Amino acid sequence: MIKITDLQKYYRTEEVETVALNNVSLEVKEGEFVAIMGPSGCGKSTLLNILGLLDDPDEGSYLFNDIEVAKFNERKRSDLRKHNIGFVFQSFNLIDELTVYENVELPLIYTKVSATERKKRVEEVLEKMQIMHRRNHFPQQLSGGQQQRVAVARAVVNNPKLILADEPTGNLDSSNGNEVMQLLTELNEAGTTIVMVTHSEHDSRYTHRIIRMLDGQTVTENILV
Ligand code: ADP
Ligand code: ADP
Repeated sequence: MIKITDLQKYYRTEEVETVALNNVSLEVKEGEFVAIMGPSGCGKSTLLNILGLLDDPDEGSYLFNDIEVAKFNERKRSDLRKHNIGFVFQSFNLIDELTVYENVELPLIYTKVSATERKKRVEEVLEKMQIMHRRNHFPQQLSGGQQQRVAVARAVVNNPKLILADEPTGNLDSSNGNEVMQLLTELNEAGTTIVMVTHSEHDSRYTHRIIRMLDGQTVTENILV
């Protein structure tokens, strides 16, 4: 599903150039659940942003489902992203002015799904995430754990092949964190590929494989199962 080769990413400011990714190559196969770990500043978010087609690399190849996307412009990246990738963030990133229902419906509006189909899919996924009883509430009226369940619902409502999660339990207590990890595990078992950045060794034990990074490079890949 993902094959990146010799990826380079630089950030340039007036005084300094940072090499955020230095010659990174990796593969993620369909159906895998992979953790990316490493100290702050090692390039995890940069890598996840590129994998998620939110940003483009300076050099190297990125094959997404056998399509070379490294040189795609923003419009083509956005099109591919909307239909294929779901995102889950540490800080939930829900829209405070929209209800739970409306937040989850949003990706379906962007991809022009019909109103009847939208209602069916949103209700289905709210049931699955056990948050249906809060459908008319606003994010600020929910606990952190509930907000992250809404965010997972929003990430999966389009049936993406790939979920990218950036510290999905970082703002949760351990019981809510475990619940979110359990949801991700169920999605993976149903066939969704997941790449998750985490600082938590505990959360990494839910995955199949840990890619460890240091100073913009991948250093080891531990197989867990
Ligand atoms: P991590 O997610 O592992 O903490 P990042 O991918 O955020 O690491 O950052 C990798 C490196 O790139 C760091 O040295 C960081 O300071 C730098 N960096 C990240 N984003 C920017 C940016 N927008 N402008 C300049 N430097 C950046
Ligand atoms: P609940 O879901 O039970 O309402 P939360 O998941 O919101 O709880 O929060 C769990 C714990 O994490 C709380 O102790 C809270 O203070 C802490 N916490 C929540 N958000 C943050 C944050 N952004 N940074 C640091 N700690 C946080």
